[in-house]
Amino acid sequence: MKIIRLLAYRVELPLHETTYKWSGGKSVTVFDSTIIRVETDSGLVGHGECCPLGPFYLPAYAEGVRAGLSELGPHLLGSDPRQLGKLNRLMDAALKGHPYVKSAIDVACWDILGQQAGLPLCELIGGRYGENFPLYRAISQESPDDMARRVAGYRAEGYTRFQLKVGGNPDTDIERIHAVSAKLQRGDVLVADANTGWLPHQARRVTRAVRNIDVYIEQPCLTYEECLTVRRGTDHPFILDENIDGLDVLLRAYSDGAMDGVNLKISKLGGLTRTVQVRDLCIRLGIAMTLEDSWGGDIATAAIAHLAHSTPPELLFTSTDFNSYVTVSTADGAPQRVNGRLAASHETGLGVRPRMDVLGKPVVVVE
Ligand code: MG
Repeated sequence: MKIIRLLAYRVELPLHETTYKWSGGKSVTVFDSTIIRVETDSGLVGHGECCPLGPFYLPAYAEGVRAGLSELGPHLLGSDPRQLGKLNRLMDAALKGHPYVKSAIDVACWDILGQQAGLPLCELIGGRYGENFPLYRAISQESPDDMARRVAGYRAEGYTRFQLKVGGNPDTDIERIHAVSAKLQRGDVLVADANTGWLPHQARRVTRAVRNIDVYIEQPCLTYEECLTVRRGTDHPFILDENIDGLDVLLRAYSDGAMDGVNLKISKLGGLTRTVQVRDLCIRLGIAMTLEDSWGGDIATAAIAHLAHSTPPELLFTSTDFNSYVTVSTADGAPQRVNGRLAASHETGLGVRPRMDVLGKPVVVVE
Protein backbone atom coordinates (compact mmCIF):
# COMPACT_ATOMS: atom_id res chain seq x y z
CA MET A 1 0.00 0.00 0.00
CA LYS A 2 1.31 3.45 -0.93
CA ILE A 3 0.44 7.02 0.02
CA ILE A 4 -0.65 8.80 -3.16
CA ARG A 5 -2.03 12.10 -1.83
CA LEU A 6 -2.02 14.18 1.37
CA LEU A 7 -4.48 17.02 1.97
CA ALA A 8 -4.99 19.61 4.69
CA TYR A 9 -8.32 21.24 5.56
CA ARG A 10 -8.68 24.31 7.79
CA VAL A 11 -11.65 24.39 10.15
CA GLU A 12 -12.69 27.07 12.62
CA LEU A 13 -13.98 25.78 15.94
CA PRO A 14 -15.89 28.36 18.02
CA LEU A 15 -16.56 27.63 21.69
CA HIS A 16 -19.92 27.14 23.42
CA GLU A 17 -18.58 29.31 26.26
CA THR A 18 -17.29 31.99 23.80
CA THR A 19 -13.77 32.27 25.26
CA TYR A 20 -11.27 29.94 26.90
CA LYS A 21 -8.79 31.69 29.19
CA TRP A 22 -5.73 30.44 31.02
CA SER A 23 -2.48 31.64 32.60
CA GLY A 24 -0.83 34.94 31.75
CA GLY A 25 -3.94 36.47 30.22
CA LYS A 26 -3.87 34.06 27.26
CA SER A 27 -7.18 33.24 25.60
CA VAL A 28 -8.76 31.79 22.47
CA THR A 29 -12.23 32.48 21.08
CA VAL A 30 -12.18 30.53 17.79
CA PHE A 31 -9.80 27.61 17.42
CA ASP A 32 -7.96 27.18 14.12
CA SER A 33 -7.78 23.44 13.51
CA THR A 34 -6.22 21.44 10.69
CA ILE A 35 -7.54 18.08 9.51
CA ILE A 36 -5.10 16.00 7.50
CA ARG A 37 -6.33 13.40 5.02
CA VAL A 38 -3.97 10.68 3.78
CA GLU A 39 -5.09 8.82 0.64
CA THR A 40 -3.65 5.52 -0.58
CA ASP A 41 -3.56 3.53 -3.79
CA SER A 42 -5.73 0.89 -2.06
CA GLY A 43 -8.66 3.29 -1.76
CA LEU A 44 -8.31 3.44 2.02
CA VAL A 45 -8.06 6.95 3.45
CA GLY A 46 -7.15 8.08 6.96
CA HIS A 47 -7.63 11.28 8.94
CA GLY A 48 -5.91 13.09 11.78
CA GLU A 49 -6.29 16.51 13.42
CA CYS A 50 -3.94 19.02 14.97
CA CYS A 51 -5.30 22.05 16.82
CA PRO A 52 -2.75 24.09 18.77
CA LEU A 53 -4.02 26.01 21.82
CA GLY A 54 -3.28 29.26 20.02
CA PRO A 55 0.29 30.13 18.94
CA PHE A 56 1.42 30.92 22.50
CA TYR A 57 0.90 27.69 24.46
CA LEU A 58 3.30 25.08 23.09
CA PRO A 59 5.87 25.73 20.32
CA ALA A 60 3.18 25.13 17.69
CA TYR A 61 0.86 27.29 15.59
CA ALA A 62 -2.05 26.49 13.30
CA GLU A 63 -0.57 27.78 10.03
CA GLY A 64 2.56 25.77 10.84
CA VAL A 65 0.59 22.52 10.58
CA ARG A 66 -0.35 23.40 7.00
CA ALA A 67 3.08 24.76 6.05
CA GLY A 68 4.60 21.63 7.59
CA LEU A 69 2.47 19.36 5.41
CA SER A 70 3.69 21.20 2.29
CA GLU A 71 7.26 20.62 3.45
CA LEU A 72 6.90 17.01 4.62
CA GLY A 73 4.24 15.69 2.26
CA PRO A 74 6.41 15.19 -0.86
CA HIS A 75 8.79 12.97 1.18
CA LEU A 76 5.91 10.69 2.17
CA LEU A 77 4.42 10.00 -1.28
CA GLY A 78 4.99 6.34 -2.13
CA SER A 79 5.52 5.27 1.52
CA ASP A 80 3.47 2.53 3.14
CA PRO A 81 1.27 4.27 5.77
CA ARG A 82 0.94 1.03 7.77
CA GLN A 83 4.64 0.90 8.63
CA LEU A 84 4.45 3.51 11.37
CA GLY A 85 7.97 3.11 12.75
CA LYS A 86 9.52 3.59 9.33
CA LEU A 87 7.17 6.42 8.54
CA ASN A 88 8.12 8.31 11.70
CA ARG A 89 11.82 7.86 11.01
CA LEU A 90 11.26 9.16 7.51
CA MET A 91 9.42 12.23 8.85
CA ASP A 92 12.22 12.89 11.37
CA ALA A 93 14.86 12.60 8.65
CA ALA A 94 13.00 15.00 6.35
CA LEU A 95 12.04 17.63 8.96
CA LYS A 96 13.90 18.17 12.23
CA GLY A 97 11.62 18.79 15.21
CA HIS A 98 8.10 20.17 14.68
CA PRO A 99 6.37 17.20 16.34
CA TYR A 100 2.93 18.83 16.02
CA VAL A 101 3.30 18.87 12.22
CA LYS A 102 3.92 15.12 12.21
CA SER A 103 1.15 14.29 14.68
CA ALA A 104 -1.92 14.43 12.44
CA ILE A 105 -0.10 12.59 9.63
CA ASP A 106 0.85 9.81 12.06
CA VAL A 107 -2.72 9.56 13.39
CA ALA A 108 -4.13 9.41 9.83
CA CYS A 109 -1.78 6.52 9.04
CA TRP A 110 -2.88 4.69 12.20
CA ASP A 111 -6.47 5.22 11.01
CA ILE A 112 -5.56 3.47 7.74
CA LEU A 113 -3.79 0.61 9.54
CA GLY A 114 -6.81 0.06 11.80
CA GLN A 115 -9.20 0.03 8.85
CA GLN A 116 -7.10 -2.48 6.98
CA ALA A 117 -6.69 -4.68 10.06
CA GLY A 118 -10.44 -4.53 10.64
CA LEU A 119 -9.88 -3.35 14.22
CA PRO A 120 -10.68 -0.24 16.25
CA LEU A 121 -7.45 1.61 17.02
CA CYS A 122 -7.69 1.05 20.76
CA GLU A 123 -7.50 -2.70 20.17
CA LEU A 124 -4.31 -2.23 18.14
CA ILE A 125 -2.53 -0.07 20.70
CA GLY A 126 -3.12 -2.02 23.89
CA GLY A 127 -6.69 -3.30 24.11
CA ARG A 128 -10.00 -1.93 25.32
CA TYR A 129 -10.31 -1.59 29.11
CA GLY A 130 -13.90 -1.57 30.38
CA GLU A 131 -16.90 0.19 28.90
CA ASN A 132 -15.65 3.77 29.09
CA PHE A 133 -13.26 6.09 30.90
CA PRO A 134 -13.51 9.31 32.98
CA LEU A 135 -13.13 12.87 31.70
CA TYR A 136 -12.11 16.09 33.36
CA ARG A 137 -13.65 19.48 32.73
CA ALA A 138 -11.33 22.45 32.33
CA ILE A 139 -12.63 25.56 34.10
CA SER A 140 -11.59 28.65 32.14
CA GLN A 141 -9.82 31.35 34.17
CA GLU A 142 -12.42 33.76 35.53
CA SER A 143 -13.05 35.40 38.89
CA PRO A 144 -13.02 32.97 41.85
CA ASP A 145 -16.81 33.23 42.23
CA ASP A 146 -17.47 32.68 38.53
CA MET A 147 -15.23 29.62 38.47
CA ALA A 148 -16.92 28.19 41.57
CA ARG A 149 -20.36 28.81 40.05
CA ARG A 150 -19.52 26.72 37.01
CA VAL A 151 -18.88 23.55 39.01
CA ALA A 152 -22.59 22.74 39.48
CA GLY A 153 -23.30 22.95 35.73
CA TYR A 154 -20.35 20.74 34.86
CA ARG A 155 -21.37 18.25 37.54
CA ALA A 156 -24.84 18.15 35.97
CA GLU A 157 -23.08 17.05 32.77
CA GLY A 158 -21.52 14.17 34.72
CA TYR A 159 -18.03 15.54 35.34
CA THR A 160 -16.49 14.86 38.75
CA ARG A 161 -12.94 15.90 37.88
CA PHE A 162 -12.24 19.60 37.53
CA GLN A 163 -9.13 21.30 36.23
CA LEU A 164 -8.92 24.91 37.36
CA LYS A 165 -7.04 27.31 35.14
CA VAL A 166 -4.82 29.26 37.56
CA GLY A 167 -1.32 30.64 36.90
CA GLY A 168 -2.49 34.23 37.26
CA ASN A 169 -2.18 36.60 40.21
CA PRO A 170 -1.22 34.34 43.14
CA ASP A 171 -3.61 36.04 45.60
CA THR A 172 -6.52 35.56 43.19
CA ASP A 173 -5.40 32.00 42.44
CA ILE A 174 -5.46 31.17 46.16
CA GLU A 175 -9.04 32.47 46.23
CA ARG A 176 -9.89 30.48 43.09
CA ILE A 177 -8.71 27.21 44.63
CA HIS A 178 -10.53 27.89 47.91
CA ALA A 179 -13.76 28.95 46.15
CA VAL A 180 -13.92 25.93 43.84
CA SER A 181 -12.83 23.51 46.56
CA ALA A 182 -15.80 24.63 48.66
CA LYS A 183 -18.13 23.36 45.89
CA LEU A 184 -16.64 19.86 45.71
CA GLN A 185 -18.39 16.69 46.79
CA ARG A 186 -16.90 13.51 48.16
CA GLY A 187 -15.12 11.66 45.34
CA ASP A 188 -14.52 14.76 43.21
CA VAL A 189 -10.97 15.48 42.02
CA LEU A 190 -9.54 19.00 41.80
CA VAL A 191 -6.47 20.00 39.79
CA ALA A 192 -4.99 23.52 39.86
CA ASP A 193 -3.22 23.87 36.51
CA ALA A 194 -0.96 26.93 36.38
CA ASN A 195 0.16 26.23 32.78
CA THR A 196 3.68 27.53 33.56
CA GLY A 197 2.25 30.85 34.84
CA TRP A 198 3.88 31.19 38.28
CA LEU A 199 7.39 32.09 39.25
CA PRO A 200 8.75 29.74 41.91
CA HIS A 201 8.15 32.19 44.78
CA GLN A 202 4.54 32.60 43.68
CA ALA A 203 4.05 28.85 43.41
CA ARG A 204 5.41 28.48 46.95
CA ARG A 205 2.94 31.04 48.27
CA VAL A 206 -0.01 29.36 46.59
CA THR A 207 0.89 25.82 47.64
CA ARG A 208 1.44 26.98 51.26
CA ALA A 209 -1.89 28.84 51.29
CA VAL A 210 -3.83 25.78 50.04
CA ARG A 211 -1.89 23.27 52.12
CA ASN A 212 -5.04 21.83 53.71
CA ILE A 213 -6.97 21.51 50.46
CA ASP A 214 -7.08 18.23 48.55
CA VAL A 215 -5.80 19.58 45.23
CA TYR A 216 -3.30 18.46 42.62
CA ILE A 217 -0.77 21.05 41.42
CA GLU A 218 -0.06 20.95 37.65
CA GLN A 219 2.91 22.56 35.87
CA PRO A 220 3.36 25.58 38.18
CA CYS A 221 6.35 27.14 36.41
CA LEU A 222 7.95 27.46 32.99
CA THR A 223 11.05 25.31 33.33
CA TYR A 224 11.57 21.77 34.54
CA GLU A 225 14.09 22.96 37.16
CA GLU A 226 11.67 25.51 38.59
CA CYS A 227 8.91 22.91 38.78
CA LEU A 228 11.28 20.51 40.52
CA THR A 229 12.09 23.05 43.28
CA VAL A 230 8.38 23.69 43.82
CA ARG A 231 7.68 19.97 43.86
CA ARG A 232 10.31 19.43 46.54
CA GLY A 233 8.70 22.06 48.74
CA THR A 234 5.13 20.75 48.71
CA ASP A 235 3.34 17.55 49.57
CA HIS A 236 0.48 18.14 47.12
CA PRO A 237 0.22 15.49 44.42
CA PHE A 238 2.08 16.93 41.44
CA ILE A 239 1.60 16.73 37.66
CA LEU A 240 3.99 17.82 34.91
CA ASP A 241 2.58 18.74 31.51
CA GLU A 242 4.27 21.29 29.25
CA ASN A 243 7.77 20.05 30.10
CA ILE A 244 6.98 16.40 29.30
CA ASP A 245 7.46 16.48 25.54
CA GLY A 246 9.45 13.29 25.02
CA LEU A 247 10.96 10.13 26.47
CA ASP A 248 14.23 11.75 27.63
CA VAL A 249 12.57 14.28 29.93
CA LEU A 250 10.10 11.66 31.19
CA LEU A 251 12.98 9.40 32.24
CA ARG A 252 14.80 12.31 33.89
CA ALA A 253 11.65 13.39 35.74
CA TYR A 254 10.99 9.83 36.88
CA SER A 255 14.50 9.44 38.24
CA ASP A 256 14.28 12.86 39.97
CA GLY A 257 10.91 11.97 41.55
CA ALA A 258 9.69 15.18 39.93
CA MET A 259 6.00 14.23 39.63
CA ASP A 260 3.24 11.79 40.52
CA GLY A 261 1.54 12.11 37.17
CA VAL A 262 2.05 13.48 33.69
CA ASN A 263 -0.15 15.04 31.05
CA LEU A 264 0.51 13.55 27.60
CA LYS A 265 -0.83 15.40 24.58
CA ILE A 266 -0.74 13.58 21.25
CA SER A 267 0.47 16.55 19.18
CA LYS A 268 2.99 17.65 21.85
CA LEU A 269 4.72 14.28 21.53
CA GLY A 270 4.37 14.07 17.73
CA GLY A 271 1.55 11.58 17.11
CA LEU A 272 0.09 8.34 18.39
CA THR A 273 3.24 6.29 17.71
CA ARG A 274 5.32 8.46 20.06
CA THR A 275 2.55 8.97 22.61
CA VAL A 276 1.88 5.23 22.88
CA GLN A 277 5.61 4.67 23.43
CA VAL A 278 5.67 7.16 26.33
CA ARG A 279 2.28 5.95 27.63
CA ASP A 280 3.45 2.35 27.74
CA LEU A 281 6.59 3.32 29.65
CA CYS A 282 4.44 5.26 32.14
CA ILE A 283 2.29 2.14 32.59
CA ARG A 284 5.38 0.08 33.45
CA LEU A 285 6.74 2.78 35.78
CA GLY A 286 3.43 3.38 37.59
CA ILE A 287 3.05 7.00 36.49
CA ALA A 288 -0.57 8.16 36.29
CA MET A 289 -1.56 9.99 33.12
CA THR A 290 -3.95 12.54 31.75
CA LEU A 291 -4.22 11.58 28.09
CA GLU A 292 -5.41 14.23 25.66
CA ASP A 293 -4.22 16.78 23.10
CA SER A 294 -3.73 20.54 23.08
CA TRP A 295 -7.23 21.04 21.63
CA GLY A 296 -9.36 19.85 18.71
CA GLY A 297 -12.77 18.71 17.52
CA ASP A 298 -14.29 15.35 16.62
CA ILE A 299 -11.22 13.76 15.01
CA ALA A 300 -8.76 14.77 17.74
CA THR A 301 -11.29 13.59 20.33
CA ALA A 302 -11.60 10.22 18.55
CA ALA A 303 -7.82 9.74 18.67
CA ILE A 304 -7.73 10.72 22.36
CA ALA A 305 -10.52 8.23 23.06
CA HIS A 306 -8.62 5.31 21.49
CA LEU A 307 -5.48 6.25 23.43
CA ALA A 308 -7.31 6.61 26.76
CA HIS A 309 -9.55 3.54 26.32
CA SER A 310 -6.48 1.35 25.69
CA THR A 311 -4.81 2.47 28.94
CA PRO A 312 -5.22 0.48 32.19
CA PRO A 313 -7.82 2.38 34.29
CA GLU A 314 -5.58 2.51 37.37
CA LEU A 315 -2.98 4.47 35.39
CA LEU A 316 -5.47 6.69 33.53
CA PHE A 317 -5.94 9.73 35.76
CA THR A 318 -8.30 11.41 33.34
CA SER A 319 -8.92 12.47 29.72
CA THR A 320 -10.77 15.11 27.67
CA ASP A 321 -13.73 15.39 25.29
CA PHE A 322 -12.77 18.54 23.41
CA ASN A 323 -15.54 18.02 20.86
CA SER A 324 -18.09 18.93 23.54
CA TYR A 325 -16.41 22.34 24.10
CA VAL A 326 -16.81 23.46 20.48
CA THR A 327 -19.88 24.27 18.38
CA VAL A 328 -18.82 22.68 15.07
CA SER A 329 -18.88 18.94 14.34
CA THR A 330 -16.32 17.87 11.74
CA ALA A 331 -16.98 14.12 11.64
CA ASP A 332 -19.72 11.55 12.17
CA GLY A 333 -18.97 8.62 14.43
CA ALA A 334 -16.90 10.63 16.92
CA PRO A 335 -17.26 9.64 20.58
CA GLN A 336 -19.77 11.65 22.61
CA ARG A 337 -19.64 12.21 26.36
CA VAL A 338 -22.19 10.26 28.40
CA ASN A 339 -22.44 11.05 32.11
CA GLY A 340 -18.94 12.52 32.28
CA ARG A 341 -17.36 9.56 30.51
CA LEU A 342 -16.27 8.68 26.98
CA ALA A 343 -15.74 5.48 24.97
CA ALA A 344 -13.71 4.77 21.85
CA SER A 345 -15.60 3.74 18.71
CA HIS A 346 -16.12 0.04 17.93
CA GLU A 347 -15.70 0.74 14.22
CA THR A 348 -12.37 0.12 12.51
CA GLY A 349 -9.52 2.64 12.66
CA LEU A 350 -10.49 5.92 14.33
CA GLY A 351 -14.14 5.16 13.53
CA VAL A 352 -14.87 8.64 12.13
CA ARG A 353 -16.36 9.79 8.84
CA PRO A 354 -15.36 13.41 8.18
CA ARG A 355 -18.13 15.78 7.12
CA MET A 356 -16.68 16.97 3.84
CA ASP A 357 -19.27 19.75 3.61
CA VAL A 358 -17.87 21.17 6.88
CA LEU A 359 -14.24 20.66 5.85
CA GLY A 360 -14.74 22.47 2.54
CA LYS A 361 -11.94 22.71 0.00
CA PRO A 362 -8.46 21.57 0.97
CA VAL A 363 -5.93 24.36 1.63
CA VAL A 364 -2.92 22.12 0.91
CA VAL A 365 -2.76 19.25 -1.60
CA VAL A 366 0.40 17.17 -2.02
CA GLU A 367 0.32 14.58 -4.82
MG1 MG B 1 -1.98 21.06 31.80
